[in-house]
Amino acid sequence: MNNLKIKEIVTKGYITPSKLSGYDYVINPYVGCPHRCMYCYAEFMKRFSNHDEPWGTFTDVKIRSNSTRPINLQGKNVFLSSVTDCYNPLEEKYRLTRRLLEQLRFSGAKVTVLTKSELVLRDIDLFQRMPDITVGFSLNSTDDVFRQETEPCASSVLSRLHALKTLHENNIKTWVHIAPIFPELSDWKSVIKAAAPYTDRFTFENLKLRAAALHRVLLYITQMHPDYKELYQQIYVEKDDSYWQQTRQDILAFCQERQIAATVHFSNEEIKDE
Ligand code: SF4
Repeated sequence: MNNLKIKEIVTKGYITPSKLSGYDYVINPYVGCPHRCMYCYAEFMKRFSNHDEPWGTFTDVKIRSNSTRPINLQGKNVFLSSVTDCYNPLEEKYRLTRRLLEQLRFSGAKVTVLTKSELVLRDIDLFQRMPDITVGFSLNSTDDVFRQETEPCASSVLSRLHALKTLHENNIKTWVHIAPIFPELSDWKSVIKAAAPYTDRFTFENLKLRAAALHRVLLYITQMHPDYKELYQQIYVEKDDSYWQQTRQDILAFCQERQIAATVHFSNEEIKDE
């Protein structure tokens, strides 16, 4: 959070129709994200934010809305969040996510939260009062050195696993999104083994790269994991899909053997802007 430029802004509304499969609406209480993941998919949001600073060095706080248009969310699937982490460290002070969830509680919506932060535990009391909520963690490795290198400001591996366990023990529906899977670096089998006692739902997504993130990750691989440089070139420069086809089969076979529900979202398509 050092040197993070924070600005409070007025938003037109918190709820946006979603292009994400399975979700009708998304809510992003913040513009930008202090977690600074090396591969961040949300970096394209800079184009819409009136910021010149590098992505990860600013966050706008949607402090209030001018919206007066009510939306009927009865039976709708609502996701927090697609282009920020709704439990990023600013949430501790601003409590926007909590306030929005309090409103969603009476909306009839089916709410799904995805985060990389143990701050989510603060709201267990609220989750327990919500009629339909699932809380999940993104976790792509059990190696906390790798986590520090690629997700420097998100919660540690152990903190996320502990938070998952705590939610499960408090009867909150949980899930684990094993994503993004870095070729040969994400030990997804270890994540499944570590998380399986606390969730029965896993989803998987491969690492997709473009623009600045592509450059950052390829540089990281060259410097820190040179043995895999050729493989990453094959996948991300030559666009060879065979690694992902094999990994998909490996995941499904591993999960089937253990009777674990698994959904694999692998794609080499360009990431769609939300
Ligand atoms: S938590 Fe998500 S939005 Fe935030 S920096 Fe990481 S990938 Fe980007």
